[in-house]
Amino acid sequence: MYEFAVTPAVTNIRRRGVEITEVTPDSLGSEIDLEPGDRIIKVNGRLVRDYLDFRFQTAGETELVFDVKKRSGEDWQIELERGEGEDFGFTFEQIVPRQCANECLFCFCKGNPDDARKSLFVRDEDVRLSFLYGNYTTLTSITEDEMKRIIEQRLSPQYVSVHATDLDVRAYLLGVDKQRADISGQMRGLLDAGIEVHAQVVLCPGINDEEVLRRTIEDLAAEFPRITSVAIVPLGLTRYNNDPRLTAVTPEFCRRVIDQVGELQRNLLARLGTNFAFLGDEIYLRACKPIPPRSHYGEYPQIEDGVGMVRSFKEEFAAMIRRMQRTGTRLDDQRGTIVTGSLFAPVLEPLIEKLNARFGSTLSVAAIENSYFGGDVSVAGLLTGQDLLSARERIDGAFVLIPKQMLKSDEDIMLDGMKLDHVQNELGLPLHAVGLGDLPQVLTSRVALN
Ligand code: SF4
Repeated sequence: MYEFAVTPAVTNIRRRGVEITEVTPDSLGSEIDLEPGDRIIKVNGRLVRDYLDFRFQTAGETELVFDVKKRSGEDWQIELERGEGEDFGFTFEQIVPRQCANECLFCFCKGNPDDARKSLFVRDEDVRLSFLYGNYTTLTSITEDEMKRIIEQRLSPQYVSVHATDLDVRAYLLGVDKQRADISGQMRGLLDAGIEVHAQVVLCPGINDEEVLRRTIEDLAAEFPRITSVAIVPLGLTRYNNDPRLTAVTPEFCRRVIDQVGELQRNLLARLGTNFAFLGDEIYLRACKPIPPRSHYGEYPQIEDGVGMVRSFKEEFAAMIRRMQRTGTRLDDQRGTIVTGSLFAPVLEPLIEKLNARFGSTLSVAAIENSYFGGDVSVAGLLTGQDLLSARERIDGAFVLIPKQMLKSDEDIMLDGMKLDHVQNELGLPLHAVGLGDLPQVLTSRVALN
């Protein structure tokens, strides 16, 4: 069974079925007397392992039989009919991620301080989360059941951390033996079944760069369009991950990578009609090179991995300025500070200056150093409450905007465990967590920021 995945993959043993956490009043779910705490064990005789299974097994079905373990411990069997597309009104427990069995040289978990938020130590390797949220898996410990499930339930696309197609290099980077590192069979199985794959390379100087990188890109491109894209993102080192086998990424290294991959991209574009291999924004920013134009990214296939995010943001910002000019918007009452990391600040500062000059706002950008993680961590999303408080003298105006990635997705808590409320009280100013893409809308909306 999937939930008891074979060793060496580490899996949290779960109770059978999927737990209902909420039932919408007057919904079909409430009509059949199901309540929070009840577990749906089977749908039409088939076991349910999580809400994805529930969704898959109920899709398109109008006549259903649920086997339920009630919160009270009773077993119920419920027969029901529903209208086509009728919603049950259930909210289910979250998927508990399956964890990896690798020992990657660059694993982010090794780069965390001991007191970092617990979730930063979760080494998820879960094809369900890959499908749902674009999390990467290495496929090194995927089970046959998981392979079957991806194919049967069309959990496509899948995001795969390849790192290198050279097996020796991949095994070395992942800290596993060559047999486990070899995922050619699994990739073939997915691709032959029509599952779309996006690949990722975490680029480590001296290990999977230069010729290894060229070969990796070419090998993956040979499977285009079944493999749709490859994102190449730089190794990130904190002060806690000081493995001597790793070499820090430098601006010079980034410039060499841009040149090398730029040449491959030109060739790929001519052959495939897409650049196919996309460099993470961080590589351009660290190299102090311009971010490629909008057309470079096509449909932004790996934007969530920080590939094209800056270009997309600049486009949205420019569109916002045009809208504001058309509508005669003024921002005279917007006085506040936008917090970001030192990497993104040079992109944001000129845009905010332009906004201030044209629309009367008094906004400033505070580029904050990441002393919590240290090393070369300079992205905004990894800033912590401590970093923010230690830069309080640079905070100006009546409100503060912080990147929403600084907070846990379902709780107002920062990476160092500080609560948003606490930091807000310490600063004595309202603190709003905002997604990069939402920034233009937040600045021009009449949402009270002060
Ligand atoms: S980087 Fe990912 S795959 Fe590698 S050890 Fe860490 S969690 Fe596992």
